[in-house]
Amino acid sequence: MSFARALRCRECGREYPLDPIFSCEFCFGPLEVAYDLDGIRAAVSRDSIERGPATIWRYAPFLPCDVEYKVDLGTGYTPLLRADRLAKAIGLDTLWIKNDTVNPTWSFKDRVVSIAIARAREFGFTAIACASTGNLANSVAAHAAGAGMECFVFIPDDLEQGKVVGSGIYNPTVVKVRGSYDDVNRLCTELSMQYPWAFVNINVRPYYAEGSRTIGFEIAEQLGWRTPDHLVAPMASGSMYTKIWKSLQEFHKAGLIDEPKTRMSGAQAAGCSPITTAYEKGTLNFIPQKPNTIAKSLAIGNPADGYYALKQMQETGGGAEMVTDDEVVEGIKLLAETEGIWAETAGGVTIGCLKKMVASGFIRRDEETVAIISGGGLKTLEAVVDALEEPLHVDPRVESFEAAQRARHGALVGTQA
Ligand SMILES: *Cc1c(COP(=O)(O)O)cnc(C)c1O
Ligand SMILES: [Zn+2]
Repeated sequence: MSFARALRCRECGREYPLDPIFSCEFCFGPLEVAYDLDGIRAAVSRDSIERGPATIWRYAPFLPCDVEYKVDLGTGYTPLLRADRLAKAIGLDTLWIKNDTVNPTWSFKDRVVSIAIARAREFGFTAIACASTGNLANSVAAHAAGAGMECFVFIPDDLEQGKVVGSGIYNPTVVKVRGSYDDVNRLCTELSMQYPWAFVNINVRPYYAEGSRTIGFEIAEQLGWRTPDHLVAPMASGSMYTKIWKSLQEFHKAGLIDEPKTRMSGAQAAGCSPITTAYEKGTLNFIPQKPNTIAKSLAIGNPADGYYALKQMQETGGGAEMVTDDEVVEGIKLLAETEGIWAETAGGVTIGCLKKMVASGFIRRDEETVAIISGGGLKTLEAVVDALEEPLHVDPRVESFEAAQRARHGALVGTQA
């Protein structure tokens, strides 16, 4: 049973029925799902959650959809890994990695799409669509395949091959648009007014966005029903970053955890940093940018939740940071080499920004910190392929191998038993 009660305008507070709508008729503010938290409090306990499935559906009472309509590819309840080697490398006592690279389509987008598609099916839509920077398209296409729905995914025409093939394999209609994500989004907004399709991040966006809360629920549960001192998340539209904070507050209101005091920080690439730039200028009003970065999954120049993200930094005492493309690659490599986790470019942004915030003292050494790694590295091979050491190329003979070892390392390495 869902305890979703209404859609509520984030600006004026007016409430609407749980329909496929996304903005307030009076002030055009964005709508957000409101819950009967007293009802949840009475129905849910730590025990009841712990008995649930090892997926996002263990938090079903907190989700704005009927589980009967779900398309379950096994999303969520991803590992929260203690990252001691990375912590030591950057100067933190305690660091955790929320490893969302292991979702069914290798990014956290499976969380948001799970909710959007359940809700779309409940509304009776037979076609599903999205405006995507890549990962969303992959997840929508996979879930549409699982549901047997018609599917249209719209992407910018400069995406990595892994993300184009990662949609095509599920056989949707893939539409490459000449332009940036912001152009794709404008086109899809127009189409959503003419076609009877569920655009997951447009007309069913209020439900879709709620799926990101499951990251926060999982972190709190996996830490033993408590919250970290600091959390660093990547920001594109700013939706995930803001929803994680919402989730911690809801867990508190439902009586499951103490009041969260987590400082919430956001990470962007310098080549698309409207939110971080506004943060550094000390304003809540960002200026849209034309993206130019290898972190394509975060390349939203006009972020829908940018204003709310900036407010949340003030409210929680967190901040925002940005990194160059070279630092993105360094971040990917550092995470891989210290922890054995291969992230896509968005993960490089998160690790790069985390490192800078620790180095500057903005994150103190003794703050227990969680970093969100939101997507897997195989999809962004292009970003790192030229940054790695070439394999040794040898004949199938011991002498050839040893000659190559000596040529590279000046000696035979690894011979000490
Ligand atoms: C979409 C995406 C994000 C950020 O999404 P928001 O729009 O800020 O919610 C972060 N990481 C990856 C890998 C993504 O695909
Ligand atoms: Zn309003």
